[in-house]
Amino acid sequence: MLQQTRVAAVIEHYREFLRRFPTVEKLASAREASVLAVWSGLGYYRRARMLHAAAKVIVREHGGAFPATAQGLLALPGIGRYTSAAIASIAFGEPIAVVDGNVERVLRRVSGKRLAGEELWTAATHLLDAERPGDFNQAMMELGAVVCTPRAPACLTCPVVDLCATRGELSGTAKALPQKKREIHYALNHRNGDGDNGEVFLVQRARDASLMAGMWELPELPSGNGAASPLFTLRHSITVTDYTVRVWRKATPSCVKGKWIQANRLRQVALTGLARKILRKAEVL
Ligand code: SF4
Repeated sequence: MLQQTRVAAVIEHYREFLRRFPTVEKLASAREASVLAVWSGLGYYRRARMLHAAAKVIVREHGGAFPATAQGLLALPGIGRYTSAAIASIAFGEPIAVVDGNVERVLRRVSGKRLAGEELWTAATHLLDAERPGDFNQAMMELGAVVCTPRAPACLTCPVVDLCATRGELSGTAKALPQKKREIHYALNHRNGDGDNGEVFLVQRARDASLMAGMWELPELPSGNGAASPLFTLRHSITVTDYTVRVWRKATPSCVKGKWIQANRLRQVALTGLARKILRKAEVL
């Protein structure tokens, strides 16, 4: 949940997720649509699907108990080398090093070498404190996140300055990716219906879409289609793109396949984060 976001933005989602799925068995037996609905707004929906798939494997093949080794964890859906090593060392004390973007930067600066690929894992393993691998790994990640930062490493207060070969000289190599800008348009089609707050017309993203597959959103328009002015405009950022989102009140062309959904049922629907934002702003949700 914390991928690319802050704890404050996640905490309510986290609590709600645990309230709905308090055990791995509950998560495993949930419908995917319910899991996505609770995840809605967090982005990176593949993670929710993988978490759900991993819960099923844990229940089916491990009797509901998490594998306690990096090797066992690596076999679960959605868990790669970094995550398996992080869980195994932090939760189970296995002496195994982690390498993420922050650790890579610390390792390169401390060693003074432009390490890459397997060399990074070897260097991290070489430094690892086998007695306290979880603390060591968290300290390395935290050092990179708060002290040895990409552009302004705080070498004067760095706890490993005496061991460091570069003391910041390798900094300045990382440049933030420039944000792209795009304008998109959506149709808000809201009518009085059976529900307390009417109904809204939504479309479902393709099951094989690379992003947010199967989730529900407002129908996209090619442009404002000559209407005088949008109902409202909002900003939305996804990874490296800043979107200007214009929302128009207009009927969806009959060729668009979608569904009228009662506003008071929207909380159970797996909405994209942007759809949720628009519906909140329009006071439908
Ligand atoms: S001394 Fe500076 S460059 Fe070296 S690890 Fe510490 S913060 Fe990073």
